[in-house]
Amino acid sequence: MAVGGVVSVTANVGGTEQTRTAPIAVSPRNWNGKTIAPVVVRDAPGTLTDRPPSEHELGATSYDVGVAVPLVIIDHGPNTGFWFFTDIPATVKITIEINTAALAVGSEFWKNQDPARSNAIIFAGAPRCTRSDVVPIIPMVEAHEDLHRQIFVQEFSQRAAPFFETRVGRSGNLPGVLDDLLRFRRAATAESARVVDSTSANPFRPTCTFRYGPYPSK
Ligand SMILES: [Zn+2]
Repeated sequence: MAVGGVVSVTANVGGTEQTRTAPIAVSPRNWNGKTIAPVVVRDAPGTLTDRPPSEHELGATSYDVGVAVPLVIIDHGPNTGFWFFTDIPATVKITIEINTAALAVGSEFWKNQDPARSNAIIFAGAPRCTRSDVVPIIPMVEAHEDLHRQIFVQEFSQRAAPFFETRVGRSGNLPGVLDDLLRFRRAATAESARVVDSTSANPFRPTCTFRYGPYPSK
């Protein structure tokens, strides 16, 4: 059953027509905790260059959302012809870029760091990073981007699951879900940026300060 209502049954009992009616209520399925299962692609360095202008260009995570149609159309009983979803109707691909062009020995970014630690230079409360700090920062960038992925999946699912659980309609009148998916993607992207880029949840916390340019002209 996808839609509640009143079911009437008429029967001929001993030559007499008798009708019985009964109300039927459809209660929602529990889709709390239902989550999307994205395809995750790691691309290094992807679109990122070896001259990052800020720490935000050491990694990047992007989210592609497409329409899936996990539908059931009921073919018997009082709800014949109604459809409902069996899952969140989305395909999600998350691309995580790690800037291994910059985070490599000999890169422009690497050359831009001090060759050796100078205790005299304190910048923004932390000593300047040195070239030897460049490659070891990769796991921290990966953790940062992976947290973007996690928060996106969590936020998208929490919004999409209860919304699509209740969608139901007549066949021949299939739902347009793309606008809803894009709305959830916008909200999940914003929440991921808020949590990961501007709260203490951010795992990218180097104990030294890198120099992001200026880079010598090519
Ligand atoms: Zn970020």
